Amino acid sequence: MENELHKRDHLGVQDFVLLEDYHNQDAFLDNLRKRFEGNLIYTYIGPVLVSINPYHELDIYNTEFIQTYRNVNFYELPPHIFAIADASYTSMRGENKDQCILISGESGAGKTEASKKILQYIAANSTHSVDVERVKDRLLQSNPILESFGNAKTNKNDNSSRFGKYMDIQFDYKGAPVGGHILNYLLEKSRVVHQGQGERNFHIFYQLIQGGSPALLEKLKLDRNPDKYFYLNQGNCSNDVTHDDQNLRVIQEAMETCDFSEKEREALYCIVASVLHLGDLTYEVNETGMAKLTDHKQGLVIAQLLGCEGDTLESALHNRTIDARGEKLKTPLNVDQAMYARDALAKGIYDRLFTWMVQKINKALAKKDKLKCSLMGLLDIYGFEIFVVNSFEQFCINYCNEKLQQLFIQLTLKSEQEEYQREGIEWEPVQYFNNKIICDLVEGKPMGIIAILDEECLRPGEPSDETFLEKLSETIGQHPHFVSHKIASSSTRKTIQRDEFRLIHYAGDVTYNVKGFLDKNNDLLFRDLKEAMSQTTNLITSECFPADELQSKKRPETAATQFKTSLSMLMDILMSKEPSYVRCIKPNEYKRAGVFDERIVTHQVKYLGLMENLRVRRAGFAYRRPYEVFLRRYKCLCPSTWPHYHGSPKDGTAELVNYLNYEQDDFRMGKTKLFIRFPRVLFATEDAFQLK
Ligand code: ADP
Ligand code: MG
Repeated sequence: MENELHKRDHLGVQDFVLLEDYHNQDAFLDNLRKRFEGNLIYTYIGPVLVSINPYHELDIYNTEFIQTYRNVNFYELPPHIFAIADASYTSMRGENKDQCILISGESGAGKTEASKKILQYIAANSTHSVDVERVKDRLLQSNPILESFGNAKTNKNDNSSRFGKYMDIQFDYKGAPVGGHILNYLLEKSRVVHQGQGERNFHIFYQLIQGGSPALLEKLKLDRNPDKYFYLNQGNCSNDVTHDDQNLRVIQEAMETCDFSEKEREALYCIVASVLHLGDLTYEVNETGMAKLTDHKQGLVIAQLLGCEGDTLESALHNRTIDARGEKLKTPLNVDQAMYARDALAKGIYDRLFTWMVQKINKALAKKDKLKCSLMGLLDIYGFEIFVVNSFEQFCINYCNEKLQQLFIQLTLKSEQEEYQREGIEWEPVQYFNNKIICDLVEGKPMGIIAILDEECLRPGEPSDETFLEKLSETIGQHPHFVSHKIASSSTRKTIQRDEFRLIHYAGDVTYNVKGFLDKNNDLLFRDLKEAMSQTTNLITSECFPADELQSKKRPETAATQFKTSLSMLMDILMSKEPSYVRCIKPNEYKRAGVFDERIVTHQVKYLGLMENLRVRRAGFAYRRPYEVFLRRYKCLCPSTWPHYHGSPKDGTAELVNYLNYEQDDFRMGKTKLFIRFPRVLFATEDAFQLK
């Protein structure tokens, strides 16, 4: 494979730091496009890998490629996801440092594919033994299972991950994978009960219906036609994803590999089916104006699938019991409330089922011994989201991206600084935007948005989304990164509706609609339903709804606070490791090969903070290489270094750059590396080399 290290031609440069004008976004995009059109989907910004989704298979992941990238110095080969995997793996083994690879980008940009490629690379390059093979198998097979239950067709991606995932791979001292552990974040459970036009529910529902044996469907009381179910037909595209039927077999096998017993699989299908049946429950108004199941038998089917008394479930679907100072008050629900309770139950069961599955997989991945191991973490998490209407989910996701951006800036600056220090070069401070102010705005106490939201959720009286918005304007209306609808309407800004607020994120402005914020944050599942679930004989629901949860007098944490806590734990995990970054970009909205839509790529370059990244990287020096590497390539340009230089590579390089008339400010000599400030200096040298 040719080393295109110093190339700059119709296919652009392989490292954005080699762009002369690094402030110029057009030059950046131009480079990205040239490479994309030449099927070069990977480009570096220093150590960061930028990847653009080709939307067609490229023959660059075969065993030959795996071999090529093995143990090769990062910059000696064209940019590749395998190079990132290899560098990370090598550093983990050589320097004994725990690693993490952070993969970000918007939906459909190729994050999940990238993480699979990394896993593939690691699996191919580590040693073999029966135990290790088993672990590799399970690591790989955990993917189809979680994708079946956690991915769905959206308008952006036919296989969109609707949850965040962090996976640690554990290695023994020989560098063989011996275990793993997965953390899952914020499953988009609202999808269980509602899908937008052109979107689907989670894959498993369709897979079960299309792929389940007649006997299984009979047992689950399911019809072969997904369009019959309210929870599946709202997007009008239940048949849009192919191979649903075959995929059930794939995940069945994957579940076997990951130690799911037959009983557990059965229990799991019963839950999936019961969710569908829940969606088809309808209510009518009874004599007292309250809700009444239209068809009593429908309730019985669900009770049977989950293994509880029909009466218990039915009562829980119709009533709400409140514990008021030790006295239990049971009130019947009206139709709206009953529908709400039904949906809450469906979402609650599914969400807990998903977490149960992650834990189940973790048991299968657990390391057998207690020996110390090295870790490589893979983070595959939702990128910045800006929709036409942005709700609580986008608020959480974008908050998560603010946190990741902060980590990124801290760690990038830190590693730059450390390299300068190591090399004995004077540090030149970099101006950058510190987004801590936005993180504080969201998570600070007592004035942060989450704190205000929680307070509003707890407040007696009649809190509502509107009063929450009112509170926001009162308390943080003056904050430079918050725009309330009141202020906005009187200014020149694009108007903000009465039920919206806007945040000035590091990556751009996002307007959030407060509708549903309180509800989603409260995440209320009535006590009666929890109780009914805790009494089921289904071995998963009974475990997912432990009876002692009901005893607890403590109010459960709100969704936003839970998310905040889990994010903060994630940041600690990531901080303790040596990071690598993969930034994924989607070339167009149509999932089409060969189409580079400048407008949407520009957006992503902005949201991913790539120009900022480049600026930080280029603030000092565009190019840096160990003396040996530099001298090896260019020694022919100077009589005293050609064909051999007998002194140290550093002295040889000094002679060489002196002979080439490098200007004083164009370069610095570190302890082991030459630093060149401007690309043009390097290119002049390269041109001379090409002419030789
Ligand atoms: P994300 O996880 O970022 O939402 P995915 O990784 O699921 O996106 O990618 C979406 C789709 O794009 C994949 O199903 C695949 O068809 C295509 N794709 C992504 N990366 C690649 C790649 N490196 N080569 C070929 N196709 C890809
Ligand atoms: Mg994904």
